[in-house]
Amino acid sequence: MTSEQRSRCMSRIRGSDTKPEMIVRRALWRRGLRFRTKTRLLGRPDIVFPKERVAVFVDGCFWHCCPQHQVQPSTNAVFWQNKLSGNVERDRRTKRLLAAEGWIVLRFWEHDVDLRLETVVQRIHRRVLKRRATLKTRKAGRDRRSALKRLAAKMARR
Ligand SMILES: [Zn+2]
Repeated sequence: MTSEQRSRCMSRIRGSDTKPEMIVRRALWRRGLRFRTKTRLLGRPDIVFPKERVAVFVDGCFWHCCPQHQVQPSTNAVFWQNKLSGNVERDRRTKRLLAAEGWIVLRFWEHDVDLRLETVVQRIHRRVLKRRATLKTRKAGRDRRSALKRLAAKMARR
């Protein structure tokens, strides 16, 4: 990575409005989806649907070592290698731990947002809707079971 590339990368990180996660948030919002962005959830996902338990990460190609765009910096090679492989390891751990707590974890690359935003947004939307449907079915099942219990108790009293 040249110093010019790196400074472009850094400026992208600072400019919050052009950040890939902002682009995804805006697109989801336009579809009528509502979500949280600042949570204390492990790994600080970029987009969180608390009720549906769906967590979305939009990963920078450089920081999270995208196989297509990651370029190992030639200066301070060891420092960067440790730093970046640490990021990748942390991403894996975060995903595992969140999944263990019943979260659906969706990860997208920055380049996915650049190249196929509609696909990214559709995948998130579908997952959220699917989860809502599952929750609804579960609730209906619970309601039915408790109605049966009430009925059984009523019959027993007769
Ligand atoms: Zn990439």
